[in-house]
Amino acid sequence: MTKRFKTTARTLETVKKYDYIIAGAGCAGYSLLYHLLKDPILCRKKILVVDSNFEKGNDRTWCFWEDAEGPFDSIVCKKWSKIEVLKDGMHRSLPTYPFEYKMIQGIDFYQYISNFAKGFEHIDWVAAKILQIKDQTPNGAAVSWEGGSAFADYVFSSINGERIQSALWQHFKGIVVEFDSPVFDDTIARLMDFNVPQMDATAFMYLLPMSDKKALVEYTLFSPSILKVAQYDEVLNAYMESHYKGRNYKIAHTEIGAIPMTTKRLSANTGAVISIGTMGGAVKASTGYAFQFIQQQTRQLVQQLKLKQSLNPLVHFTRHHFYDAVLLFILEHKKMSGDEIFARIFKKNDAATIFRFLSNTSSLLEDIRIMSSLPTSIFLPAAIKVLFRR
Ligand SMILES: Cc1cc2nc3c(=O)[nH]c(=O)nc-3n(C[C@H](O)[C@H](O)[C@H](O)COP(=O)(O)OP(=O)(O)OC[C@H]3O[C@@H](n4cnc5c(N)ncnc54)[C@H](O)[C@@H]3O)c2cc1C
Repeated sequence: MTKRFKTTARTLETVKKYDYIIAGAGCAGYSLLYHLLKDPILCRKKILVVDSNFEKGNDRTWCFWEDAEGPFDSIVCKKWSKIEVLKDGMHRSLPTYPFEYKMIQGIDFYQYISNFAKGFEHIDWVAAKILQIKDQTPNGAAVSWEGGSAFADYVFSSINGERIQSALWQHFKGIVVEFDSPVFDDTIARLMDFNVPQMDATAFMYLLPMSDKKALVEYTLFSPSILKVAQYDEVLNAYMESHYKGRNYKIAHTEIGAIPMTTKRLSANTGAVISIGTMGGAVKASTGYAFQFIQQQTRQLVQQLKLKQSLNPLVHFTRHHFYDAVLLFILEHKKMSGDEIFARIFKKNDAATIFRFLSNTSSLLEDIRIMSSLPTSIFLPAAIKVLFRR
């Protein structure tokens, strides 16, 4: 794999003009590459992919829901058709039909797309840190990195040049635990167990059993500041101790992350430089889910390129964007605790309606049903504040 991404100086001296440059090969960069290469016309374009680190390993696990077969089903390592939410005495278990909750390992995704790309001739790879991306509309855009540069008609960037500003973050540490005898019910994904220290925030344990002996257990919080690693560890250890007392397990893998929860634009699209992924606003602000929105965004861009339309990477449109802003306002200003909000939503609605709401595909009637799960005395003033703030 390393060899494949090594740049030969000669290649770049002679071929410096591309149709597209993909700056950053993470979820969004690889997704865009995949959807471009799936297209019978755009797959012939000359594409350069630049990333500072093509050796990411299994740096994250992506979960998402789908109500049909998806393009990445062959690398889905586990799926569930039941979810559960726990808070105090409430233990709500919900079938997800027609959706399935699916899990993909980061490493499988990166390998799947880089293997698929090997079948195409016009793709170059550069492993280097990008120093600058410059819009030169109407003459495309330029990307420079340590030791080189290239031009393209369009640059699609998921790199975060500046420190991201967000009032709230979804941050977490997860451990993949392995027992030597069965302990988990692997037919059900524990989406949120709020019976953990809330740390003056919204906090829950996310527990995804991959088999009856193995699970991802992730302590997740929505709050303004990130915890120290030892603080996540303390809660994870206490949770394991109280639920699986005396049972031996080993930690096979860990993941740690922080996702901005904001409806504000993190970067502007300027002419020939189009932001994608987190930087392109693909993250659902109120939940941190992004994988499916990134697929939607990159498919949308491929379609626009094909039809020679102006490029618009936005995927969160007005109505659902507004709900996100209201929910974030309530959380940020502590008008109601997050565990109470989510517990009410899951108590009063079925999983399919909630999934559609969180995917921005719910009907107005479904939106009203979800929002009427929350007290009007809190939701309405927050909605008015957000309206005026806009
Ligand atoms: C641990 C973790 C778990 C997550 N789990 C889920 C989940 O279950 N479901 C879900 O929907 N979302 C999840 N997310 C949120 C979201 O899907 C991911 O963050 C997703 O990877 C975002 O894609 P991206 O392409 O914008 O960023 P990334 O995947 O981070 O890609 C950015 C790329 O840019 C490269 N780069 C950055 N700076 C430079 C530079 N200067 N020069 C060259 N290269 C550069 C990086 O090496 C990286 O490859 C998770 C996020 C994390 C961190």
